[in-house]
Amino acid sequence: MHIPKLVMFDLDGTLARSKQPLTDEMADCLTELLTKTRIAVISGGALPQFLSQIVEQLPKDANLSNLYLLPTSGAALYEYIDAAWKKIYEERLSDKEATDIEAVLRAAGKETGHINFSEPSYGERIEHRGAQVTLSALGQQAPVDEKEAWDPDRSKRDALHAHVSSHLPTYTVKIGGKTSIDVTKQNIDKAYGIHKLCERIGVPEADTLYVGDELRSGGNDEAAYKTGAQTHPVTSPEDTIQLIHELVS
Ligand SMILES: [Mg+2]
Repeated sequence: MHIPKLVMFDLDGTLARSKQPLTDEMADCLTELLTKTRIAVISGGALPQFLSQIVEQLPKDANLSNLYLLPTSGAALYEYIDAAWKKIYEERLSDKEATDIEAVLRAAGKETGHINFSEPSYGERIEHRGAQVTLSALGQQAPVDEKEAWDPDRSKRDALHAHVSSHLPTYTVKIGGKTSIDVTKQNIDKAYGIHKLCERIGVPEADTLYVGDELRSGGNDEAAYKTGAQTHPVTSPEDTIQLIHELVS
């Protein structure tokens, strides 16, 4: 199989289970792929989440200079330069913008009836991530099984998304993970991150492969279809491992 000049991966559901570290097998696969081409990871999480889920699971001698991290759905880009993760850009929200967004997220939880903020949660329900404000219905540290059981048919997230979108028409509002809604500046999405990274490192989008578990209408990888990148849907991290084996063989 021809190896693209850049392989971009979604994180949760594609490289790892929701908020879980890479498995040893996945870490080995990515380490091998990093010796052959450039890899980017793009996801709604913030940088610390990327470091603990991905970077800290890779061996010390992994070729990190070939790894690009795009947290907050592509609103920021980090590169590994001189043994440190350097921010290349970040489309930050102002404090006022973030506060206004939080108020709308809280109102959406109440008015849809899907989130009662006075009930206990697993960590904070609202997180300010610099370029993004994220609402997590059960809290940031909720167990995966509970998150997967919360909204299996997406109806709660669809209702929250509709409410927030209608009240924040000048922002981009996305369903993030199994329980979350992400808000960023307008036109910031995974397509933006793909465009910015390809331009910066001089790789044609046509020679980029995007891999994600939600490459479908309404899914959080859908924006990849707005770019020139090739796309490869996967169903799980195990499926992604198969693809990487094909790429490196
Ligand atoms: Mg995913």
